[in-house]
Amino acid sequence: MIKIELDHNRNFKSLDEFSQAYYLLVKPTIIKKASDLHAICCFIFDDTPLDFATIDGRRKEKYISLLSNKKIDFKKNDTDTKLKRLLKKTIYHSYPTKGKGNILYLFEELLSFLQDTKNIRGINLKNVITEKPTSLENYNTILMTYFSKLFAEKRIKPIVHYILDYSVIHDNSKIRNLYLENLNVKVCPYCNRNYVSFIEHDSSKVIGPTMDHFLSKTNHPLLAASFYNLIPSCYVCNSNIKGDQQTKIEYNLNPFIDGFGETAKFILKSKNKPYQVKLKIDYRKPNAEKVLSSSIPPKEKTLKGNALLFKLNEIYQNAHSDEVNLLMAACDNIESAYSSSIKNILKKHANISEFYKFYFQKFSNEKDYSKIPLSKLTKDLVDDRLPWL
Ligand SMILES: [Zn+2]
Repeated sequence: MIKIELDHNRNFKSLDEFSQAYYLLVKPTIIKKASDLHAICCFIFDDTPLDFATIDGRRKEKYISLLSNKKIDFKKNDTDTKLKRLLKKTIYHSYPTKGKGNILYLFEELLSFLQDTKNIRGINLKNVITEKPTSLENYNTILMTYFSKLFAEKRIKPIVHYILDYSVIHDNSKIRNLYLENLNVKVCPYCNRNYVSFIEHDSSKVIGPTMDHFLSKTNHPLLAASFYNLIPSCYVCNSNIKGDQQTKIEYNLNPFIDGFGETAKFILKSKNKPYQVKLKIDYRKPNAEKVLSSSIPPKEKTLKGNALLFKLNEIYQNAHSDEVNLLMAACDNIESAYSSSIKNILKKHANISEFYKFYFQKFSNEKDYSKIPLSKLTKDLVDDRLPWL
């Protein structure tokens, strides 16, 4: 678990400043979806004139299927007049009489919430998009309860989910690129093994991370585009291992909050060759977060949750024994052959971190672990084997 850091060579001074900029970019897309759906509903239920030219054409089909909750047989080249007739005929009559007024009321409520002119029990869109992970689950419960009560009709839930869904970043290369370029994540924060460097080779296709939703889209649909809920991670961790399993702030560490630090370290399982490692979590380390805020669960517990979920012990023991044995040989080589001369050089001139970087081809500062795979493993084992370095 490597803490996600900002790329300070880019646009923002802090993650919070970045999250605010991200919010300003996603907000218009979210509002556009709600406004389009509202305009279509006003036409269907209230006879308000509708100009299809103002509706986002890429989403027209999706809007209609959401409102009707069934497949409507219209063709892309159907005239607007024909489409309007079809909408009236199919959608108007499928809603109960009471529902017709309710859906318009719902959209008005929703739009004022999205435009941040109305708070729902103290929460507005800005909170949903930019709030830190510790409050998000609670927000989801409050909003889901509110929207469910507004309209008993089943089809309203998917409409609200769609308006706030992940497509605001996934389908928008400008937002997606800004998000990925400004985070200093080149290696998966969950495993620190696989590269996830972001490279755009086509406006619609990228080489880069998959996006894990820390709080799942299934159970937390209103948080699908929330800044701190999106974890750039490798396919193995996100899909192969985590899959449908849930991560929760009580049991798992969100990489935006913290990383392994000194609380969890890779150690050798035995002093004999061939070497194997295990991840040791130190439950005696003082936990600063515990003192600062009772809403944050103990780091040891959440680190353990992630180690178990992402199978870090099994993977590091079985997949990286070659690297561990090569690393131990490199350490032994320094000890036996060059120890005194290297110690002398380091004492006089050299910067230890520069030597570490040159000799082990990794960075020694935890802030840089996300740049090269296995940095955490290397640093922990070298610290243990060569404490003088
Ligand atoms: Zn991973």
